[in-house]
Amino acid sequence: MNYKLEVITIELKDRQKEIIEIVKNNQPITSEAIAQMFGVTRSALRSDLSVLTMSGLLEAKPKVGYYYVDQSDRERMLDFIKVIKVDDVKSLPIVVDEKVSVYDAIVTMFLEDVGSICIISDGYLAGVVSRKDFLKAAIGGTDMKHMPVGMIMTRMPNIVVTYPKEPIYEAARKIIEHEIDALPIVEEVVLNGKSHYKVLGRLSKTNITKLFVNMTE
Ligand code: ADP
Repeated sequence: MNYKLEVITIELKDRQKEIIEIVKNNQPITSEAIAQMFGVTRSALRSDLSVLTMSGLLEAKPKVGYYYVDQSDRERMLDFIKVIKVDDVKSLPIVVDEKVSVYDAIVTMFLEDVGSICIISDGYLAGVVSRKDFLKAAIGGTDMKHMPVGMIMTRMPNIVVTYPKEPIYEAARKIIEHEIDALPIVEEVVLNGKSHYKVLGRLSKTNITKLFVNMTE
């Protein structure tokens, strides 16, 4: 599926245009003060103000008031987000072989301080194992020292992956849509007409949160 950040054109009502002018000239300005200028109550302006904040034209700071958001800043920010690729924010992959015991894979998860591990078979991605998979194995009474991790992992072809050159917002969308914490970053290798995936890295919610924090700094 192909996702695009869309530019949405909205038609502003006259009163909304006036509100923008008032905010531009008096910012920060509270909703009470704007309402006073129109000679109406605050609740009469509520829907106009929420249209303007939801569309990103105004920003509401609690206890301070409304600010006008310069649209060139907004576009610059969108352009900036669109060029960031998975490769720019990735982490090293944490990888174990499918034959390793569940016990040793749990030890790796603790030592590496991650929430999921890529499992490989003959050097290529075979699956992913996460905290919940280990908990399921534990409550199911699995013999952790003897059961190979490959028996409890989520396996290919059900693994959601990303690629170094994929835009970061598309990878972030995959994480949200599939309700998972991380994606293996892979390179496709075709051997004897069959696709295999070499694991190059790991993209987790933490990488994206760090990017978000860096952007605000
Ligand atoms: P946690 O177990 O900490 O909630 P996740 O939400 O990432 O971690 O994992 C939930 C389930 O999704 C687990 O069964 C796990 O094996 C699986 N899973 C994790 N990452 C992926 C992925 N990239 N693709 C497909 N399945 C995944």
